[in-house]
Amino acid sequence: MEKREQLYEGKAKKVYATDDARYYIVSYKDDATAFNGLKKGTIEGKGAINNRMSNLLMQLLEKNGVPTHFVEELSERETVVKKVSIVPLEVIIRNVSAGSFAKRYGVDEGIVFDAPTIEFSYKNDDLGDPLLNSYHAIALKLATREEIETIKQLAFKVNDVLRAYFKTLNIRLVDFKLEFGRLDDGAIILADEISPDTCRLWDLDTGEKLDKDRFRRDMGGVEDAYNEVMHRLMGE
Ligand code: UDP
Repeated sequence: MEKREQLYEGKAKKVYATDDARYYIVSYKDDATAFNGLKKGTIEGKGAINNRMSNLLMQLLEKNGVPTHFVEELSERETVVKKVSIVPLEVIIRNVSAGSFAKRYGVDEGIVFDAPTIEFSYKNDDLGDPLLNSYHAIALKLATREEIETIKQLAFKVNDVLRAYFKTLNIRLVDFKLEFGRLDDGAIILADEISPDTCRLWDLDTGEKLDKDRFRRDMGGVEDAYNEVMHRLMGE
């Protein structure tokens, strides 16, 4: 696979065309942002960890029947993925109260839900990714009703698989964000990444935060947290 021109540079990744129209190459950066880009920084080694981790988890999900964009890991930071057009929705699943949920509803963080929740936001930086429901998404033509049904089912399946897997690593999967894409034939597959940038991961025994909240909240130990998750994933 040959890398061609850069198509897009996001906050944490670059996307390149390849010599095969079906595929893109993504390259993970160490850059970190939070609060819609207001806070900027670098997390040393993050790109390599997020690339590896996202690829491992996508492969686990594929084995469990969730279609993903993963094709092949090329190097520490680079991966071949299927070309999709991204559905402009951030799909958030929560098992435990935290972050914007705790703030919005005025509850403590750490309340374990009886059943997971799902919510959508409109992926639009200018508007600050506003929360919306499935009717709004359909009205705005961001996705069809059928696509939203598929996305919901896949997102809950991802939660079942990942929650069980992280438990074996003594990690609580608190919440996470997913993005889905459409293949040329219209099929919906999981895209983007699954990493400590996009998940809240708490140590099951101590409750220690092992994710990007350490960066967002200036808690220190950011690199150590990402490395800790990576080591547990690699079985070290
Ligand atoms: N999240 C993300 N990208 C975003 C917003 C949220 O990856 O643009 C993830 C975040 O890491 C967390 C989950 O989605 O695991 C829920 O985030 P929340 O809505 O609580 O927002 P936050 O508190 O991060 O603003």
